[in-house]
Amino acid sequence: MNAAPTRLLIHGASGRMGQALLRLAAEQPALHTVVAAVTRRSPAQRVVDGVPHFAAAELSGVPAFDVAIDFSLPEGFDPILALCVERGLPLVSGTTGIDETQQGALATAATRIPLVWATNFSLGVAVLAELVERAAAALPGWDVDIVESHHIHKKDAPSGTALTLGQAAGSAGQAVHYASLRAGDIVGEHTVQFAGLGERIELTHRATHRDIFARGALHVARMLAGRAPGAYRVRDLLD
Ligand code: NAD
Repeated sequence: MNAAPTRLLIHGASGRMGQALLRLAAEQPALHTVVAAVTRRSPAQRVVDGVPHFAAAELSGVPAFDVAIDFSLPEGFDPILALCVERGLPLVSGTTGIDETQQGALATAATRIPLVWATNFSLGVAVLAELVERAAAALPGWDVDIVESHHIHKKDAPSGTALTLGQAAGSAGQAVHYASLRAGDIVGEHTVQFAGLGERIELTHRATHRDIFARGALHVARMLAGRAPGAYRVRDLLD
């Protein structure tokens, strides 16, 4: 791992996640320094709190960086992946809704650069996935159900995180069933239930603040710098 601060490019910097990343990176200047913040449109100000801002159209001209962190939209995904491949630099992306072609491009890029694409950057969920995989392997024949709850505005169901946990829960061949609740302002809750005869295990993660995703992405970015090319999972980079 680098001793010097990791030089970051934040792609999607004006969004909710981008703003959280800029704020949290600024709180730890010994670990991170943001050298470029990229937004879809031309920035109103060129430099904000010491961070140079660029429009998406200016992406090819951004200064040297160590890792790019992308929380944008599917239409912003191709250019940032292409830039990282062209410069041979790592990419951390949490952009959801990318299509099959983009997934294919990710797999190809992983032969050239280190990258993490994940539907959930919470370190707690990464640990939960490990626990679920262990439980599934030890409990063949038990029923596996995943219940997830999110705020009323979330459109997709089951959540990407529930599906990721489902992969871990079904790793020993069990069928996994899903239930989704949409209510109020719930940030995100996932329970994986293993039910046998006369006993039950429930493994639950509750997110109470969206900063956990930005914090996890910053952690992963620092762990990814200097690694060999490949597609890493958040849980590969916990410590
Ligand atoms: P948002 O709508 O608030 O922000 C989107 C950002 O992307 C804006 O800065 C916008 O300028 C930028 N953008 C859009 N098109 C672009 C383009 N063509 N080129 C460059 N930048 C472009 O969204 P948000 O809530 O910050 O979420 C961003 C993404 O992260 C979404 O895909 C969301 O689902 C995902 N997300 C993932 C996690 C996770 O842990 N993986 C957590 C939260 C959100």
